Amino acid sequence: MRRFISGTRFMLFFSFVCLSVFLLSAMYIGGSAAKERSLLEYRKQYYKDQSHKLAYAVQTHIRSERLSKDEIQLLHHFSAVYTFAFRYYAADGSILLFDSADNRPLAAEPYDFDVPIIVEGNLIGYIKTYFDLSRHDFSYYPGSTMESSRPNAYIFAGLLILSVFLSFVMAKKLSNPIIASSKVADHIAGGIRGTRMPVTGTSEMKQLASTINALVTEFDRQEGWRKQMMQDLTHELRTPLTSLLSRIDAILDGILPATEENMHKIHTEIDRLCRLVDDLEKLSEAEGARFELNIEQVEMTQLVKDVYDGFLFMSKGKGIHLTFRKPHVPCYAEVDPDRIIQIVSNMVSNAIKYTQAGGSVEIGLYPADIGIIIYCQDNGIGISKKELSLVFNRFYRVDKSRRRKNASGGIGVGLSIAKALVEAHGGTIGVESAPGKGSKFYFNI
Ligand code: ADP
Repeated sequence: MRRFISGTRFMLFFSFVCLSVFLLSAMYIGGSAAKERSLLEYRKQYYKDQSHKLAYAVQTHIRSERLSKDEIQLLHHFSAVYTFAFRYYAADGSILLFDSADNRPLAAEPYDFDVPIIVEGNLIGYIKTYFDLSRHDFSYYPGSTMESSRPNAYIFAGLLILSVFLSFVMAKKLSNPIIASSKVADHIAGGIRGTRMPVTGTSEMKQLASTINALVTEFDRQEGWRKQMMQDLTHELRTPLTSLLSRIDAILDGILPATEENMHKIHTEIDRLCRLVDDLEKLSEAEGARFELNIEQVEMTQLVKDVYDGFLFMSKGKGIHLTFRKPHVPCYAEVDPDRIIQIVSNMVSNAIKYTQAGGSVEIGLYPADIGIIIYCQDNGIGISKKELSLVFNRFYRVDKSRRRKNASGGIGVGLSIAKALVEAHGGTIGVESAPGKGSKFYFNI
């Protein structure tokens, strides 16, 4: 019960009902008060008109201040015709000459008028009429139709029922997607990953559901990578460790002589293990943003040229034509030069790695609206469209078995480190590639 009361549907329903009751009551009370006011004004105007009519009738029949018997008789007649009470006073207003209100009950809301009686230019008396604003019992009173058309309590009740119904419909409509989403969220939290939030309801709810769906998809992907990473790491570590162990065991058992060649093989395995640990360290440093950037103003052309020079020997050894495209203008930027060298080196070493002998690799830079763009283009094996968005992910390698067999290969963290470093500089990194045609990696600073 408590859960139901604190639920969104009930809360919305309750709020809508409260709001509509408040609005309807305000309209009803406001409408009644306004009608009452205009009716009162109407009544007063009507009473005034009646008073003047009576005064006119009196004026046409009474000739002097003193009332004759016939005139008194006439006033009695008027009192019967006009159902309201009136008094007739002498001209100075102090002497009461006729009172039709003798036996009438007191008015609850008295309202009176003074109308002077003027005959041939002389003031001969006053008529004072008396009304009760709380009553309107004239049979010929034209306002009676108005009075009867007061705001109807039945209409109010009808509107109230309608608003309760509409409140329920609205509350249901608004809360349905929330309830459905919460059920799906429970499923997801419980490990049922295939389910997705229904994208329905208000625009904010749709937005929220889409965002959560994207989060779940991303979470699934991350989880996949995590599993893959554990597999890769175990494999990467086990292979050199097993090989090392068997070699050392063999030397200790005297099966393998401790020659320079055998020691060199052990050294290569240890070196590979060290590089692997180094890569992991660099990755956690870069991704955890635990590094400090030593920003300084650098002429980027020279910096990229230095990287190019560093790779000339290696590319020649592999039979790859490495070129450097210089910009026409000096390109200065505020960067950490060591980190930029690290990023460009990673791109160039990958390009050389994934380009066959006889291929070519071009490194270059140029100024653009978004800063300086540095790129490395090769005509190597390229990357398929499907893999393209994944190459910047940690431990992602396009061809896993091939990389493992290659002792000089990385563990698929070079580009994710480069990405973290570029982002730390406020830039973005990207790639364009086509299988068999080559790849172009670039970033802006
Ligand atoms: P690794 O340490 O394995 O080189 P990287 O993060 O540097 O990892 O690269 C990730 C993957 O992207 C590589 O395994 C490779 O398959 C692919 N890749 C990177 N650069 C290129 C390139 N120039 N041409 C083709 N594939 C590339």
